[in-house]
Amino acid sequence: STANDDLRGLIRTIPDFPKPGIMFRDITTLLLDPAGFACSVERIVEGVDGPVDLVAGIEARGFIFAAPVALALGAGVLLVRKDGKLPGATIAEDYALEYGTDRIAIHADAFAPGARVLLIDDLIATGGTARAAVRLLRKAGAQVTHAAFVIDLPELGGADALRAEGIEVATLVP
Ligand code: IMP
Repeated sequence: STANDDLRGLIRTIPDFPKPGIMFRDITTLLLDPAGFACSVERIVEGVDGPVDLVAGIEARGFIFAAPVALALGAGVLLVRKDGKLPGATIAEDYALEYGTDRIAIHADAFAPGARVLLIDDLIATGGTARAAVRLLRKAGAQVTHAAFVIDLPELGGADALRAEGIEVATLVP
């Protein structure tokens, strides 16, 4: 669609960042464009077909999209942060990186069991980060029904892996 092409054109690819051989998809140019940013938020909101209590954004670029989507849906914002950043008692989840592991966390008292959560990040690649977030949210009792990403790298299979876990996944730009 035209809207799709417009969003695509606002995202640039920077070669060899953060290391040689990586083609980094950079959304800072999309954020600088008011119409493009608004369109991306609207399209995420339009794709949500059920009630949502909380929109969970993954640190850091997920936060930027989670906040306006939550306002539009009448939902709260839940921060999924790198371990060690949240001041209160947390629940954490580890996940594998190419080399080593990383850990994400949420506040243990952020929601009551059964809360309906929409998960958001700027980009899904292998899905390792998003799947760790889903494990964490479900461990804390959330119903993770929907996930949305501005960019999908479909050849890496992350979105399909989330769908296999029963999550409705929306992506804006391949
Ligand atoms: P995954 O865990 O392999 O799905 O990688 C997704 C995570 O890494 C997300 O939190 C993204 O923000 C980040 N990421 C991976 N590749 C890129 C990229 O090319 N541009 C921006 N973020 C990326």
